[in-house]
Amino acid sequence: MGKIALHWQILGGMILGVLLGLLCNQFEGGREFILDWVKPVGTVFIKLLKLIAIPLILASLIKGIADLKDISKLSSIGGRTIGLYLLTTVIAISIGLMVVNIIQPGGQIAPETISELTQTYSGDMGTKVEKAISQKNKGPLQFVVDMVPDNIFSAASSNRNMLQVIFFSLFFGVSLLLIKPESAKPIIDFFNGLNDVVLKMVDLIMLMAPYAVLALLASLVVETTNTDIFTALGWYAGSVILGLLLMISIYVLVIYFYTKKSPSFFIKGISPAQLLAFSTSSSAATLPVTMERVEEHLGVEKEVTSFVCPLGATINMDGTSLYQAVAAVFICQALAFNLSFGDQLTIVLTATLASIGSAAVPGAGMIMLVIVLESIGLPSEKLALGLALIFAVDRPLDMCRTVTNVTGDAAVAMIVGKSVGKLSEPNIKNWDDNYRN
Ligand code: ASP
Repeated sequence: MGKIALHWQILGGMILGVLLGLLCNQFEGGREFILDWVKPVGTVFIKLLKLIAIPLILASLIKGIADLKDISKLSSIGGRTIGLYLLTTVIAISIGLMVVNIIQPGGQIAPETISELTQTYSGDMGTKVEKAISQKNKGPLQFVVDMVPDNIFSAASSNRNMLQVIFFSLFFGVSLLLIKPESAKPIIDFFNGLNDVVLKMVDLIMLMAPYAVLALLASLVVETTNTDIFTALGWYAGSVILGLLLMISIYVLVIYFYTKKSPSFFIKGISPAQLLAFSTSSSAATLPVTMERVEEHLGVEKEVTSFVCPLGATINMDGTSLYQAVAAVFICQALAFNLSFGDQLTIVLTATLASIGSAAVPGAGMIMLVIVLESIGLPSEKLALGLALIFAVDRPLDMCRTVTNVTGDAAVAMIVGKSVGKLSEPNIKNWDDNYRN
């Protein structure tokens, strides 16, 4: 694909995917053709990205800490990152609340649509509620307990344990800094080499990206059955999307004023990761690409990227928290459940916690929404109805909120990088060198 920039290639793949899906929907057997012969390309791509996530975190975080040479820098990077993650999440939720209170999408939905939607989807909701409740029933410090692995091999054997792998890598990296340099050297060399190999794997996988997104979007189109729902829930979906766009504008502005990098520099640098986030609905699957773009195209040095991005993919979900705020208030408006100002403050708190607890995989944000709805006292019979109400548009909104999640991680990486003097000019080492404009 010649010298076309990567983001255009991916965007082209997405458009062709939608067109192919629409076309195949017109023929008998077209849907099956896409599901049998096209969708596997996308599935393989997502599996490949997930395959390298754990080795990438291990290698780059250990190498990143070893390069820091000084543990006090790590604590300042850590403190700023976590502080900014919390701050951006609270800002995102506040934007969500502001938009949903101004637009009042719950008042725009017809009563017959509410009963139709709740009847169609309420059967599917039981398992979601159960999953969220089992999560909630854990004690307040359970997340700390869960973060510490008791066996690194079992931790590394599941992508769901990303926080445990981050914990191990940090612990290992810090200990590496504390031993004699001659003993540390062979290990550092090993992780340097491993890091280069994994980054090369990302490059090779990305060669597939335009074809993979074509496959993913074509299968999404043929799997979407009821498009009328989008119009019925248009005000709600529009409110979420407006909020997400406002949040992205805030990142862009803060980056512009704080780091002096132009909006086009930031968006161009991160757009392939955004497009993949949109196509896969998973910040975990997008993580390898996010890290590569943040480091090589936005110029954030490895010491910062290797810590901020994996942590962000697991705990920082601004898009998800914003969506949870809008969805919670929308459900209450539509089901005529009055919310006080105090309830809205409760949403800020619980949506922050729920977004931290949401896994970086498709649909996770909706499961954790249950916790937000419960915290404001929505009775359990209304809870399942509420989820059923928004279920039909969850996937497209998931695609959009994942874009914001990934953009938020990249923005915080740049801000932290700048604040600790680790933001430099981009250093593009990999294959897409030739693909720049
Ligand atoms: N899909 C989102 C992500 O991976 C999480 C969610 O909001 O469902 O970031």
